[in-house]
Amino acid sequence: MGNKIFAPKGTKDIYGKDVILWEKIESEIKKLCKKFDFKQIRTPMFEYLSVFDRSVGESTDIVSKEMYTLNHRGDEVFALKPEGTSSVMRAFIEHGLGNEITPAKLFYITPCFRSERPQKGRQRQFHQFGVEALGSVSPMIDAQVILLAHTFFKILKVDKAIKLKLNSVGCPKCRSEYYDVLREFFIGKEDKLCEDCKIRLEKNPMRMLDCKRESCKALMEGVPLMKEYLCKDCKAHQEKLLNYLDILDIKYEIDYKIVRGLDYYTQTAFEFVSDLLGAQGTVCGGGRYNSLVEMLGGKETAGIGFGMGIERLILLIEQENPNLLNSDDDNIDVYIAPLGEKAKETALKYLKILIEKGLSVQTDCMDKSLKAQMKYANKINAKKVLILGDDEMENGYFTVRDMETKEQEQIKFEDIIKYV
Ligand code: ATP
Ligand code: MG
Repeated sequence: MGNKIFAPKGTKDIYGKDVILWEKIESEIKKLCKKFDFKQIRTPMFEYLSVFDRSVGESTDIVSKEMYTLNHRGDEVFALKPEGTSSVMRAFIEHGLGNEITPAKLFYITPCFRSERPQKGRQRQFHQFGVEALGSVSPMIDAQVILLAHTFFKILKVDKAIKLKLNSVGCPKCRSEYYDVLREFFIGKEDKLCEDCKIRLEKNPMRMLDCKRESCKALMEGVPLMKEYLCKDCKAHQEKLLNYLDILDIKYEIDYKIVRGLDYYTQTAFEFVSDLLGAQGTVCGGGRYNSLVEMLGGKETAGIGFGMGIERLILLIEQENPNLLNSDDDNIDVYIAPLGEKAKETALKYLKILIEKGLSVQTDCMDKSLKAQMKYANKINAKKVLILGDDEMENGYFTVRDMETKEQEQIKFEDIIKYV
């Protein structure tokens, strides 16, 4: 078993044209976050296990089943990050990032690791783009975080295939009453619940609403809903947010089943979902987490954010906006075609000069004939070819061929920079 020389199951190499698409997405993320004034943060790929235990929650699927843990020498236990938020919160506390500007607005693009059964839209290493806004309890920031995701989908032209689903999961105060009601509702039905839901009933019964098993779904018929138990503050928060979304002309659907799988959520919970992705329909999940910073040992700080799965976003782009995949960035400015040893030396010299001038340049490394070199230049989409044959070398000029117009002209070595 120790000699497998292929990528681990549930991971993917990104190469060729895919890299261009990934770069495009990352560049759109950066432009978008600049517009909304979110600053990038990069955190380590792994953290002390307790960072996730205490934030995501010990009883969640992510921590109890899906996390990759690493046992270091001694008794330190680390985990590969299964999601982006916890590390950002840990860094926020550690570096006092909330001390200067409130709300602190951060974004990240990071690999995440979860030991799950791989399938379409579900990998063991995947990537999340996420944002976090810390320090404001106002629904004004909830609205802007949702607007940011909404704008991103519009920019990528996948917005028509995506719906926003919204809910309020209340605060610890109103939730504790709701939990009691839920536990009461399931009295006598415990035996029919799946093993996970038996634990959820005990630890976080609201998460049962999110169970994907048909047998559990059947038991949810007539289940009491959080909305009936929201306290005055939570209710007002939600009403204001809905009003802001109307003003922004962002359509939403209230879905009481959106409870999010993590322990740290309060009030606003939302998902952007698509019908085009099969069972893995959630492209982006987010919400408010007013107790998270405290759970990690910081001072009480309100927050809201989302995590978006980039692989699922790409599956959507493939269906909704395939033009984005056919990128035109795939060309180079200049190919230098030398014939003979002396010409190669000159080619190398001008390769350096032109690259320093900011052009993309290739030259022959395979001792090809002129014909083969022209074919190659065509294949790599070179815009111009600089031919260096015997006559050119003797008289100090390039024969420059424009690969689009097919026109050729002679340009003196010393004029080439001005020319190309
Ligand atoms: P799901 O219900 O599909 O398992 P989740 O609730 O576990 O999703 P979150 O923890 O909210 O997902 O993560 C945010 C986003 O990250 C998801 O909406 C999804 O787009 C993406 N994501 C989560 N797990 C995976 C995975 N294993 N592979 C690819 N993308 C993922
Ligand atoms: Mg999951």
